[in-house]
Amino acid sequence: MEKPKILVSACLLGEKVRYDSRGAFCGDARFLRWQEEGLFVPVCPEVAGGLPTPRPPAEIREGRVRTEAGEDVTEAFEAGAQIALKLAREHGAAFAILKQNSPSCGSLFVYDGSFTGAKVAGEGRTAALLRRHGFRVFGEDQLDEVERELAGLGI
Ligand code: SF4
Repeated sequence: MEKPKILVSACLLGEKVRYDSRGAFCGDARFLRWQEEGLFVPVCPEVAGGLPTPRPPAEIREGRVRTEAGEDVTEAFEAGAQIALKLAREHGAAFAILKQNSPSCGSLFVYDGSFTGAKVAGEGRTAALLRRHGFRVFGEDQLDEVERELAGLGI
C-alpha cells in the first residue's frame, strides 16, 4: 500500500523560513520518524506567497493580515494558502500538520493582532483554506491525534 502524504509547515522541519529567519524545529520522535519514512510534503505558505525572509511579523486583525506598521499583506498570505492547497491536492495529502499560532498555519489558535504575544482561538489563512477544501489540519501540538490518524491508515 502506498504511504499517505502529509502536508507539513516547513519551519517544523527546521527550515529557516520564519519571519525572523529561524526555524521552529519539531523534535518529537514520532514526527522525525514520519519524516524519515518520507510522508512529508513541506511548504512555507508565506515564502511561497512571495514574502521575503526575514520579514516583519504579521498578525490577523478584523479579517486582514497586517504587519505591526499597518502594511496589509493579506494578498501574499492568500497566494501562499492557494499554493499550499495545490500541493496538498497534487500529492493527495491525507491531512496537514501545521505550525500552531501562525497567521498562515495556525489551526486552533492565532496571535490576536495586538503584537503582544496574546493568542485567540482561530485559524491562519492556509489552515482555513485547506479545511474549506476538506483537508483536516492538526498542529504540532496534536501529534497524539496524528498518530491515531496514521494508525487508522495502517501506518
Ligand atoms: S508560514 Fe507556516 S511554514 Fe512558514 S514560517 Fe510561518 S508557520 Fe512556518
